[in-house]
Amino acid sequence: MTETPGFSTRAIHAGQEPDPRTGAVNVPIYASSTFAQDGVGGLREGFEYARTGNPTRRALETAIAALEGGTHGRAFSSGMAATDAALRSMLRPGDHLVIPNDAYGGTFRLIDKVLTHWGITYSVAPVDDPHAIAEAITPETKVVWIESPTNPLLNVADIAAVAEVAHNAGAKLVVDNTFATPYYQQPLALGADVVLHSTTKYLGGHSDVVGGALVTDDPELDAAFGFLQNGAGGVPSPFDVFLTLRGLKTLSVRMDRHTANAAAIVELLQGHESISEVRWPGYAGMVSIRLSGGREAALDMCKKLELFTLAESLGGVESLVELPAAMTHASTAGSLLEVPDDLVRLSVGIEDVEDLLEDLRRSLR
Ligand SMILES: *Cc1c(COP(=O)(O)O)cnc(C)c1O
Repeated sequence: MTETPGFSTRAIHAGQEPDPRTGAVNVPIYASSTFAQDGVGGLREGFEYARTGNPTRRALETAIAALEGGTHGRAFSSGMAATDAALRSMLRPGDHLVIPNDAYGGTFRLIDKVLTHWGITYSVAPVDDPHAIAEAITPETKVVWIESPTNPLLNVADIAAVAEVAHNAGAKLVVDNTFATPYYQQPLALGADVVLHSTTKYLGGHSDVVGGALVTDDPELDAAFGFLQNGAGGVPSPFDVFLTLRGLKTLSVRMDRHTANAAAIVELLQGHESISEVRWPGYAGMVSIRLSGGREAALDMCKKLELFTLAESLGGVESLVELPAAMTHASTAGSLLEVPDDLVRLSVGIEDVEDLLEDLRRSLR
């Protein structure tokens, strides 16, 4: 094939050729911590020890890079392990970074509670305002870190504009693309230097595995990420990688259904008297709402929903509901990133939409 294959074709085939020895159409789970060498230093396919590299992991890294339109992919044991590897590769004591004023709680916690002890400073800015981001940049800024859409407020960044702001200041742009997925948004093509994923969410898609990934076109950054895969060891198991690859194959059909279901739910909620605000970027399954009745009404809704399971996380085939201020984003309480206490976050799954609508109607009665 001379042209780049389409998105769904890449999801199913990139890095996933039939096994040359047996013809298995799925990449085997290479449950091996070490690889025989043909004489000292004689590696057969570049594999020596599984913390450094493993064939199943390499398949996932190739596939995710292909979906993001990037040249290099690295898989990690969680989105936070990927975040940690990216930050520690790109920042040194004395450096500064800019993060969203509604960043994912875990990202904020890692920066605020850990990296600051190592001489890193940070400022916050709204992701949907490139001027505010430019104003938050200092001479020491080495990284501008954004999510788009953000978790849980679903604010959307103009990634190309933010990339220009970052690059003008000599800083690199990292985009956490967990919520949009490469199906809807490919940040590298918009000027980002690094794309991060919590593959736990839509890429895995079945709420059965925790993982993370980094993608870049920059060979030096990729080498630094690879150094930390080996040097710090936050790598996924071959079985976790297999589950993620299995989920990845159906990303496009799942995303179409998540979006269609979310659109119908947004229509119901927008007209509802109990709801004061509905936030949805127009794609994917994340919908955040605020209740006219405040925190008590939000708690009541979470309690009454039956098909929407009360749980953290998102992006799986099943619908979930949560209260960010008390659950996923509890670590932001009292900080600049505090989220409203009447905010309810829905992760709309791919069940029959009529059943989801009925569950929501009943919970708001
Ligand atoms: C979940 C999440 C993370 C962290 O990923 P884990 O796989 O839970 O470690 C990072 N960013 C966003 C936007 C997330 O939703």
